[in-house]
Amino acid sequence: MKNKIAGDGDLPQEKWLVAYRKSSSKKGPEGSVFVRQFFAPGYYEAYDTVLSYAEKMNLEVLWFREKRRCGQYMNRDFPGLGGRCTWCNRKFDTEPIPCGQDDCESEFCSRECMKEHSSHRH
Ligand SMILES: [Zn+2]
Ligand SMILES: [Zn+2]
Repeated sequence: MKNKIAGDGDLPQEKWLVAYRKSSSKKGPEGSVFVRQFFAPGYYEAYDTVLSYAEKMNLEVLWFREKRRCGQYMNRDFPGLGGRCTWCNRKFDTEPIPCGQDDCESEFCSRECMKEHSSHRH
């Protein structure tokens, strides 16, 4: 699996943020924009992570940069890239199940988690 999340140990990891646009959104032609965070030791690894996820999920990359340089975004927490369930917090490598709610960017490891989330949050 290509997703390298923090804790692999070999290289010092920097936290990065990436903004994607999902053009297939029902919200309108401009699509919906969302921010994800992930760990990478350097620019090239970050670039690679950002692009492979964009390809896999069919997203447009708007920008990405180190979180400590992200000003307004620095003190906020964002969902991780490609694979932590919003509901049970489990890491997964499979295609995430998105929340059925159009304005919600949560992703889940299973339909069960998605249903739990929906009944509690929406
Ligand atoms: Zn889950
Ligand atoms: Zn939701």
